[in-house]
Amino acid sequence: MISIAKPLIGDEEKQAVLEVLDSGMLAQGPRVKAFEEAFAEMCGVEHAVATSSGTTALHIALLANGIGPGHEVITTPFTFISTANSVLFTGAKPVFVDIDPVTFNIDPAQIEAAITPQTKAIMPVHLFGLVADMAPILEIADKHDLVIIEDACQSHAAAYKGQRAGSFGTGTFSLYPTKNITSAEGGMITTDDEEIATNCRVIRQHGMRRRYYHDELGFNFRMTDVHAAIGLAQLQKLEQFNAARIKNAHYLSEHLAGVITPVAPEGRTHVFHQYTIRVPDGRRDDLIDHLRKNDIGCGVYYPVPIHKQTFYTKELGYDVSLPDAEKACEEVISLPVHPALSQDDLDKIIETVNGFMG
Ligand SMILES: *Cc1c(COP(=O)(O)O)cnc(C)c1O
Repeated sequence: MISIAKPLIGDEEKQAVLEVLDSGMLAQGPRVKAFEEAFAEMCGVEHAVATSSGTTALHIALLANGIGPGHEVITTPFTFISTANSVLFTGAKPVFVDIDPVTFNIDPAQIEAAITPQTKAIMPVHLFGLVADMAPILEIADKHDLVIIEDACQSHAAAYKGQRAGSFGTGTFSLYPTKNITSAEGGMITTDDEEIATNCRVIRQHGMRRRYYHDELGFNFRMTDVHAAIGLAQLQKLEQFNAARIKNAHYLSEHLAGVITPVAPEGRTHVFHQYTIRVPDGRRDDLIDHLRKNDIGCGVYYPVPIHKQTFYTKELGYDVSLPDAEKACEEVISLPVHPALSQDDLDKIIETVNGFMG
């Protein structure tokens, strides 16, 4: 069986965890601080704030930017549910804009039509490891005085014109086991703005600026030193992991036939969190069956766009049509691209897809 994802945990991670367990400092301590500093450096930003997950990173990032009831946040419907749910957690409303069918990311040309007096933020998702088209998004945000919250949960060290994901506004990352690097569970917020970073730290720890004085509402969204030790060891391997993903992706794209392979526009470094193809002519589900019969793991990210999820239609009353996101949900398959694939694995994936589509 060739799996769709595989966390690569080595002796470095194991040793680092044992050291934390022996140190007596288990919760948010020196490893968290070291991990934050190294992560900020990787992104090219001043500050990073570690959290318990990507979802809590998104939630904190929104709150730290003052987003709450009565506000609207513009985002994409073609993403993992927590992108939009994190907006709901704050009491604000996610407003969905359709995607660019080539990149799968939010279409900047459709953003301005969705702006209202309530709009406070644009939340692009750098889906599958490809940074969204940030130049026009930043221009719109500047013109309408909106903040940028990046969902960079799938794009560790991805770049746009040399600038890294997470450095365009307030960045948020996930460190879940299937992501390009993991801390088992965990998340990270990145920013150049010291006030935002401080807000994030306060919200992460019970709204506490001074020990046991609580002037605002906060949470326990901390990362532990055990998780940070794993994350720090993984961060040392990120460039190597991403290079292997990019190499695997290029090999697949060179040899796959009969399907539409992923695109990295000029000036963008795609880090292939997922290698996502489109299968034309309504043959997607049959190809999935064929892959599974041949012991090749694959995934559909995502089968339902968020504006069509039952909670959003039935409970929240969303009734919009976003045709390019809906079409993508019917056509995409993500194939294995992770660093643990062998040459034989890659060749088997190619033979199996081409044999079916040919
Ligand atoms: C994984 C992911 C998240 C959530 O991260 P968790 O660590 O699982 O909470 C949010 N957005 C996107 C796009 C993701 O892929």
